[in-house]
Amino acid sequence: MARNGRVGGNLTVRVHKAYDLRLEDLERPEPKEDEVQIQVKATGICGSDSHYYTDGGIGMKKIDPNVPMLLGHESAGIVSAVGAHVTSLKIGDRVAIEPGTNCTKCRRCKTGQYNLCENMRFCGSLINGPNNGTMREYIVCREDLCHPLPDHLSYEEGALIEPLSVAVASVKRTNPDLGSHIFVLGAGTIGLLCAAVARARGCTSITIADINENRLAFAKDYLGDIVRTINLNEYPKKGHDEDPMAHAQPGAGGTVMLIGLGTPNVLMPLWIMTSREINTLTNFRYANCYPTAISLVASNAVPVKQLVTHRFPLQQVNEAFALMTKGGADNIVKIQIGEF
Ligand SMILES: [Zn+2]
Ligand SMILES: [Zn+2]
Repeated sequence: MARNGRVGGNLTVRVHKAYDLRLEDLERPEPKEDEVQIQVKATGICGSDSHYYTDGGIGMKKIDPNVPMLLGHESAGIVSAVGAHVTSLKIGDRVAIEPGTNCTKCRRCKTGQYNLCENMRFCGSLINGPNNGTMREYIVCREDLCHPLPDHLSYEEGALIEPLSVAVASVKRTNPDLGSHIFVLGAGTIGLLCAAVARARGCTSITIADINENRLAFAKDYLGDIVRTINLNEYPKKGHDEDPMAHAQPGAGGTVMLIGLGTPNVLMPLWIMTSREINTLTNFRYANCYPTAISLVASNAVPVKQLVTHRFPLQQVNEAFALMTKGGADNIVKIQIGEF
């Protein structure tokens, strides 16, 4: 249906293949009985969106140019229509969107670990897909996946609830003791948020390591005196015979938490880890973490606004992705797309 002289009334960002990102006007979706329609106001670009842009996929999974996919999964917006059976939301409510639609029926869903749902359809992902993402003007979502934002939170903060939920899930699983020390490898958005959530959880000393000096300077600014930074480019180097990883766990005990999907195979010193009883845990996305993440931001226990370093309107999405692929240059932490 034509709206305001346009073909579909729903401007979208679709990737067709590597470096082929197109703004396309598609049909505006109408909500089913248990869904709401949301006008998307802010969407962050995540590392996975960036991979789909530069590689046309992630790992072995590649986008079929005949079935292009909408990107994006870090979004917030305003409810613009509601399905007949929706009771908890109304038109005009501001929400953070949880981008993984789980089946609610499999064993993992029924035991509360719905992040591991075998039928998960996650926005902007090829797994069980392609599943179209949130980088568009209008989207429909199941009612229970839309989390109301307090009035004083912005859409930018609302869009950061998604990566913050990864940090909340990871810190909860790690369960650090009050007053403990954490070592964070990587000062990107997830690393910074993990450090901030750990601080809110009672960790009193934080070391962050990265190879990018801009990111380390940003980490110091964001986290304050509690943080010590290490530039891994300085190791090994004359005059630095100390192992930077010694900061992670100087003695025995402690926990290693692996977050996100990096190099598929990594060597780990199992003899050392076993003889020192170093626990190893992993985390994949989150389950039931959005309300906690929203209250952490609302109470200022974990401020996130300053992480948004660059903003672009939807029409300039190609410029935004070109900047994103520059990595740690220009003090980039989080680039968002939307109306600001
Ligand atoms: Zn992400
Ligand atoms: Zn399921």
